[in-house]
Amino acid sequence: MNEADTRTEQIWQGTAVSSGVAHAVVHVMKDHFDEPDEVPILAEDVEKDLARWHAALEVTRVEIEAVQKIMEDEQGSSEADIFEAHLLILHDNSILKQVEKTVREKLICVDAVYYRLMCKHMDALRGLADSYLRERFLDIKDVTHRVMRHLRGEMLQHPMFDDPVIIIAHDLTPSDTVQLDRSKVLGFALETGSANSHAAIIARSLALPAVVRLHNICDELHSGDPVLLDGDEGLLILNPSPATLAKYRSREEQSDAREDALQITRHEPAITNDGFKVDVCANAEFIEEMDAIRDSGAEQVGLFRTEFLHLEDPDGSEDWLAECYTKAVKAMAPGEVIFRTLDIGGDKVDPHASGDPEPNPFLGWRGIRVSLGRQDLFRKQLRALLRAACHGRAGIMFPMVCGVEEVRAARALLDQCASELMAEGLSVPDDIQIGAMIEIPSAALSADLIASEVDFLSLGTNDLIQYPLAVDRLNERVADLYQPTHPAVLRLIQMTVDAGKRADVRVCICGEMAADIELTPLLVGLGLSELSVAASQVARIKHAIRKLNKAECKVLAEEIMQMSSAPEILAKSRALAEAQYPELFV
Ligand code: PEP
Ligand code: MG
Repeated sequence: MNEADTRTEQIWQGTAVSSGVAHAVVHVMKDHFDEPDEVPILAEDVEKDLARWHAALEVTRVEIEAVQKIMEDEQGSSEADIFEAHLLILHDNSILKQVEKTVREKLICVDAVYYRLMCKHMDALRGLADSYLRERFLDIKDVTHRVMRHLRGEMLQHPMFDDPVIIIAHDLTPSDTVQLDRSKVLGFALETGSANSHAAIIARSLALPAVVRLHNICDELHSGDPVLLDGDEGLLILNPSPATLAKYRSREEQSDAREDALQITRHEPAITNDGFKVDVCANAEFIEEMDAIRDSGAEQVGLFRTEFLHLEDPDGSEDWLAECYTKAVKAMAPGEVIFRTLDIGGDKVDPHASGDPEPNPFLGWRGIRVSLGRQDLFRKQLRALLRAACHGRAGIMFPMVCGVEEVRAARALLDQCASELMAEGLSVPDDIQIGAMIEIPSAALSADLIASEVDFLSLGTNDLIQYPLAVDRLNERVADLYQPTHPAVLRLIQMTVDAGKRADVRVCICGEMAADIELTPLLVGLGLSELSVAASQVARIKHAIRKLNKAECKVLAEEIMQMSSAPEILAKSRALAEAQYPELFV
C-alpha cells in the first residue's frame, strides 16, 4: 500500500464547467509574483543562471519599448516618458552589478537575489508622502513584476510533465494555457473563473474536466498530491478512497456506454423530424484538435480562434502561420474552416500586440480594433489565411466589430493582401466566404447594415450576453446575472437572424449557448440553422436536433419572445428538451 492510500479523503466543492472525471496527481501553478525561494546553485551554473536573467531583462526591454511606441503613437511623447524611467530602472548599473555580485558570492539563484534587491529599493520608497517618490516606487514595482514574469515564464514556458497531471491554479489565462504541455494535462481545477472564461472553453474543447471557484485550493494542495476531479458535480477529491474510486469507475462505465450509443450516428446529418437541417460544426483553438474534430461528426469548423496559435508564438512568421492554417484546412477538407482573425485583448493578453494593461480590457483594445491598429500583424495573418485558402475551403471572419466601417476597413486590407499575393503569382480563390461576428450589441442592432457587407454572420453569444447585460463574463460575483435567456439577449439574436434572412446571408451561432441542450429547441425555433460547438458536444447536439420538430420549436420560440423572465424562459425551453430527449438529461 503506498502512502497516499493511508491518507484521509478530503473533498472540496466548486463549480463544474467542463464535464468528465480525471484521476491523477496535481501540478500546482503558483501566483506569478510569489516570493521566489532562495534556491542554492552550483558555482558552475552561475553563468547559465545569470544568462537566463539577462534574457528576461532583454525581453522586458523589448516589451517596454513596444508599449512605449504604442503610447507615443496614440497619446504623444509625454505619456510615453514614464517608460523611459522604466528602461532606466531596468538598466540601472548599480542594480545589475549588485545582483551579479551577490549571485556569484552567495551562490543563490538569480530570481531570489534580483527580487529581494528590488524589494529593498521598493521598501525604501513605500509609504513616502512625496508623490514623486511614490511614483518611483510604482515604477520599480512595475519593472520588477515584468522581469519576474519573464523569469518565471522562461522557467515554465514548456513545463514538462513525466506523467499526466491535473492543473491547479488561481486562474489560467489563455497564454498560460497555450504554454502547458497539453498532451499530459487531464483537467483543470481553479480557484476562480466562470463557465465562460477561456480556460473553461478550452477545457470543453479538449474534452477535459474542469472545476472553478475552488477557493484557496492552491494553498491546500501540493504538486504530487493524488486527486480525483469530477467535472460533472464540481468536486475535487484529495486522496480518493478505494470506495470512491470504485464508485467513479462504475459511473464511468455507464456514461461510456451512453456516449458510445450517441457516437454511432455522429456522422449522419442533423435533421429535425419535420425536415429542417441544422449544420453542426465545431469550434477549435489548436491544430492538434483537428483530428478529433474531423472524427466528431462536425460538418465544418465554425470558429477557429486563431489567437491561441498567435499566443503560442507571437513572433511566428507568415510562412509558419500559413503552414498551420493549411494543416487545419486540409484536415477538414472538403468541409470549410472558418478562421476568426485575431481576437487579442480582453482576457487574451499579448503585451507585445496590445500594450500595457488596460483598466477595462473587455471594453478596450480588443479584436478587430487591435488588428486595424496593428496592420503589420493583421496583414501577416490575412496573407497566411489567403495562402491556406489555396489548399481547401477557408472562410474568414472578423471579431468584435461594432459597425460596418470596421468590416469595410478589414475587407479592404484583405483585398489588398489578395492583390499582392496574386501579383506574386498565387491564384487566390475568389469565393472565400467573409463574415462578421455579432457579439457587441451595436453589431446586433445594425446587423442589417453589416449583413450587406458580408457572406455570413456569426453570433458570439459569450460576449453578446456580457455586453448588453453589463455582466463581466469572468466575474464570479455577477455570474448569476449572466443569463443567456434574458429577453434582451434573445431579441438581439432574433434581430440578427432576421437580418441574415432578409439579406440572404447565413447566420451561425458559435458561442457556448449553441452547445446547451436545454436551449436547442429555442435556437432551432428562432430559425438558427448552423450551430458551432466544442467537438465533444457535436454528437449530443445532433442527437437532440433529430428529436425535435421545427414547427413545434417555432411555436415555442414565439411564445418565449413574449415572455419576460430569463429563468422562466430557460425552464420552458428545457421542458420541451427534456420531453423530447430525456436520455440526454440523465
Ligand atoms: C463569443 O463571444 O461567443 C465567442 C465565440 O468568442 P470568444 O468566446 O472567443 O470571445
Ligand atoms: Mg467573443
